[in-house]
Amino acid sequence: MKESKDAMVARVRKQLLEKLRVSYGIKTVDAMLASAISDGSCPSICVMCREYTADYEPDCVEGYCEECETNTVASCLILAGII
Ligand SMILES: [Zn+2]
Repeated sequence: MKESKDAMVARVRKQLLEKLRVSYGIKTVDAMLASAISDGSCPSICVMCREYTADYEPDCVEGYCEECETNTVASCLILAGII
């Protein structure tokens, strides 16, 4: 059976969160989310190239990616579905 779109989105989001966690050198995804909530600036990753990371606002869904030169960077809190 074909994977549902929701399942695919959830899987990709998980992969992006894991990439962010590794690139920020944080032990767990939960720790990354907790510090993002308390800091107000969130580790964020480009959903297109999946390479570019930067700190953006917690509700960022269209941050600028310097690699793709498009507004495709989403914050970890968005990716985790927290906000
Ligand atoms: Zn990009």
